[in-house]
Order: sequence, then C-alpha cells, then structure tokens
Amino acid sequence: MVYEALYTKWGRYHGSRCTCGQDWVQAHALPAGFRVVREGNGFVALVGPGLTVGVDEDHLTVAALWAAVTGEASGKTWPERVRIVER
Ligand SMILES: [Zn+2]
Repeated sequence: MVYEALYTKWGRYHGSRCTCGQDWVQAHALPAGFRVVREGNGFVALVGPGLTVGVDEDHLTVAALWAAVTGEASGKTWPERVRIVER
C-alpha cells in the first residue's frame, strides 16, 4: 500500500511551514524514512513509517508524513485516499 502524495499540495504545506527552500521529498520525506516507489504526473508514491501500520485499508492518516514535511508534530489527522499499486 502506498500513498500517492500530490506534489504541489504537499509542496504548499511545506512552503508555508518550513523555510528551508528545498524539495520537500528530498529534504524531509526521504530523511524521515519514506521511500519513493513511483513518480509521475504530479504525484509521488510513498511508502514509509506510519503510513501502513494499523490503518484502514481505504483511508489513511498521513500524520507521519505531515510531521516530517512540516516539522509540526500534529495537525494532519484527517484521512487521505490511498491506492493499492503493483510494485
Ligand atoms: Zn523544509
């Protein structure tokens, strides 16, 4: 199970909360242990800690990614759609 993060949406989250000016995937997601499994058409498919453990199969909470990208411990607790993709 992967989370297909919309690149621009997460770029906005990052840009409004972090001043590092770097790419949010390179600067935050990868160092936090997320891995890019696929990229394309404005999204980046991620797997990583907190994204696949004990979640509803149809939804997931991306609090872990939110914390990594924005540096805020809590915030994004509403569910996001996930997609099952072949790896
Ligand atoms: Zn940053």
